[in-house]
Amino acid sequence: MSNDPLFQRVALIGIGLIGSSLARIIRRDGLAAYVVACARRDETLATVRDLDLADSVTNDPAAAVEDADLVVLCTPLGAYEAIAEAIGPALKPGAIVTDVGSTKSSVIADVAPHLPKGVHLVPGHPVAGTENSGPESGFDSLFEDRWCVLTPPPGTDEGAVEKVAALWRQAGSTVEIMDAAHHDQVLAITSHLPHLIAYTIVGTATDLEEHLQTEVVKFSAGGFRDFTRIAASDPVMWRDVFLKNRDAVLEVLGRFTEDLTALQRAIRRGEGDTLEDHFTRTQTLRRGVVDAHQAGTFKATEPDEE
Ligand code: NAP
Repeated sequence: MSNDPLFQRVALIGIGLIGSSLARIIRRDGLAAYVVACARRDETLATVRDLDLADSVTNDPAAAVEDADLVVLCTPLGAYEAIAEAIGPALKPGAIVTDVGSTKSSVIADVAPHLPKGVHLVPGHPVAGTENSGPESGFDSLFEDRWCVLTPPPGTDEGAVEKVAALWRQAGSTVEIMDAAHHDQVLAITSHLPHLIAYTIVGTATDLEEHLQTEVVKFSAGGFRDFTRIAASDPVMWRDVFLKNRDAVLEVLGRFTEDLTALQRAIRRGEGDTLEDHFTRTQTLRRGVVDAHQAGTFKATEPDEE
């Protein structure tokens, strides 16, 4: 293998938890000759400088992507379209544009129309994360033993897909190529709905009267504590996930509320068999998930790994 870096110049647009984790890996393994990071706030850029996560920083996305052979969008999804519009004219021919966003069809819809001919779009989603945000919260093992899903539109240059896949493999992930709409349906049930449930249950508890709130905190060592952790995830990021994956989320939410209503009815009618049957079925699914992880190399998936 040659010692040439995988990329000459990488531009990270947005450098919070995910972008900074990627920057740490790129720096650690010498995957790029030059890294430029872009964010809006001086405070973020100062932290990036202090942590030495990039060779240079800027708040101008168009300046950041100049001469870059890889551009990685790592902002909340709601910012993508304006960023794509801003960077489009500044991208060099042959550049690869990828991203880390939690939804994928929306990325193709928001970004592709703004890219000039000869620029390759390879949308990506590392299925790994925590509830923390900002450049200081990243770490270089975040993507180890995790999936990274790539959703290149049909006809995307295979060499470009392979280069993005190589980056994620170097980060320790297993790469899966998938259709964007399929990705969005799968993630709606495995990640987006669990987050919505967490936000709801913590919101409901917060609305209860004062004395009960104290008890909620006191007993939160149980399952509720996991919900509070998930519900502490970044509000802007999650606002955008639900707005950008609206159809798939509404579809699974419809199914979920029907199932919940059936359980509610079984409780009201005292139908113990119905409840027990349901809980037995889900116990079997859980065992299957655990067995699958033990058989493979993957860490057990937590609901905050969106
Ligand atoms: P984060 O920690 O909040 O970081 C977001 C970064 O984007 C910050 O550096 C922010 O800095 C910058 N930013 C925001 N708007 C911008 C704009 N308009 N132009 C330039 N920079 C901008 O977010 P994150 O958790 O890394 O998430 C980033 C993306 O990864 C999201 O699309 C999310 O769906 C996806 N993702 C997240 C997770 C997770 O668990 N967190 C997992 C997988 C994928 P300034 O505020 O200074 O601009």
